[in-house]
Amino acid sequence: MNLAFQMLRSGHAHGARPAVALGDRVLWSYAELMARVARLAGALREDFHLAPGDRVAILSKNRPEYLELVYACWHAGLVAVPTNAKLHASEFAHILDDSEARAVFTSPDLTAVVGGIDAPACRHQVEVGSAQYARLLERDAIDMVPRAPDDLAWLFYTSGTTGRPKGAMLTHRNLLTMCACYFADVDPGAPWRAILHAAPMSHGSGLYGLAHVAQASCCVLPESGGFEAREVYRLITRWPGLSFFAAPTMVKRLLDDDPGGDTSNLKLIMYGGGPMYVEDALQALDRFGPKLSQLYGQGESPMTLTALGPALHAQRDHPRFMERLGSVGIPQFAMDVRVADAVDRLLPPGEVGEVLARGDAVMPGYWRNAEATAATLRGGWLHTGDVGSFDDDGFLTLKDRSKDVIISGGTNIYPREVEEVLLRHPSVSEVSVIGRPHREWGEVVVAYVVPAAGATIDPAALDSFCLEHMARFKRPKHYRALEALPKNNYGKVLKTALRDLDRDAG
Ligand code: AMP
Repeated sequence: MNLAFQMLRSGHAHGARPAVALGDRVLWSYAELMARVARLAGALREDFHLAPGDRVAILSKNRPEYLELVYACWHAGLVAVPTNAKLHASEFAHILDDSEARAVFTSPDLTAVVGGIDAPACRHQVEVGSAQYARLLERDAIDMVPRAPDDLAWLFYTSGTTGRPKGAMLTHRNLLTMCACYFADVDPGAPWRAILHAAPMSHGSGLYGLAHVAQASCCVLPESGGFEAREVYRLITRWPGLSFFAAPTMVKRLLDDDPGGDTSNLKLIMYGGGPMYVEDALQALDRFGPKLSQLYGQGESPMTLTALGPALHAQRDHPRFMERLGSVGIPQFAMDVRVADAVDRLLPPGEVGEVLARGDAVMPGYWRNAEATAATLRGGWLHTGDVGSFDDDGFLTLKDRSKDVIISGGTNIYPREVEEVLLRHPSVSEVSVIGRPHREWGEVVVAYVVPAAGATIDPAALDSFCLEHMARFKRPKHYRALEALPKNNYGKVLKTALRDLDRDAG
């Protein structure tokens, strides 16, 4: 099964429906998009002489052409390598070299950066939207190249909050499973009418674009090319039935920069990719109603580990609603998700351990990295590196990434618990908690705080607040104010950068 079949199905069955829009304006219908994809695929095969299985890198900010490029790769039997557009040139170079991409498509802002990289395997560079790109779209259409379920479709380089990005190999089967889980758990309930790509399409937003193409739903690109809260609110009024993916920090920006007004057109905000604090989730529920859905996934099992769907967000009178809101929900329908100890023994509910997963969404391995593959997939389970526990009802609550857990005086402290408490204090807008090496205690807890508008950080006040709400040993020993937390392109707080900052500050 080739994922490009979904494009053909929508193009044939719903050719007149809008497929891609920029802001308010529809650019192409599904019939037009299908034709563009087949012609672009023709150019990749005939002009570039690419063979099935060859890799094509996409180093581009969000653009209307993004999905057509990905589908053209699949239609031609190729592997797409969509890449975070905010990486450093040396990281692009690593990805081009590691994937041995034969061709690269760049957005205009990245053309020169990529042009300066020496990548011998990469014989073609095309700027998306250029005259050369337009000529590719004039080629003869080709028939879709058949692909087997386990053929590689998307090489997903891990977001690289630490270390060098590794290529998680995502097959056609993996991504079809992700779509099925999307319809079952994350965004259940027809009709699927439009998805807004305000978050990067190289990651969650683009991945969820696949489910929308499968339903001939319109892919809407904001004109700003990024996540601007006010533009998102405006586009909600323009597009009935709009869903979109947002990192938790983006949801917070929507709440902080809310011009008010009608959001009845909104179908769903899918949030995930990092922890959502209960305070923020409650505020979002108050603002948008139960039009929220949480997913927990990782590049190695794209968007597909657990979900806290819209129906669970709606059960505000459930006796365990607050615990559930602080959880990442239940395993998605095609996934087996468990918690295990350090020697991979599965643990019962209530016990904390590493989150493991298996199922058809889990990658078959890392690209050309047998060692990392064997370690991550040992025993047939994906080892997520996340720490958490299930409750008796099967809801998974994440503590933290194992490397972020603070060990002070021999006791584990989960930063998230401390952060959840501090966020309830009115002077705190954002917070991230890390461990600072300490001779006597091993580590001590340090909180980096972004003050709320007009507020200042008063360590004594925060300390007494912590004493009221958490065990003494968990409370931060030091507070530092920051204007903004360091985050990657996907809105994830970079704890590694905070630890570096903390070390440099002495
Ligand atoms: P990436 O591979 O870049 O998508 O990063 C995946 C990691 O993000 C996971 O292993 C988790 O640590 C974190 N993550 C993803 N979704 C959630 C979520 N809903 N809540 C908390 N952390 C999450």
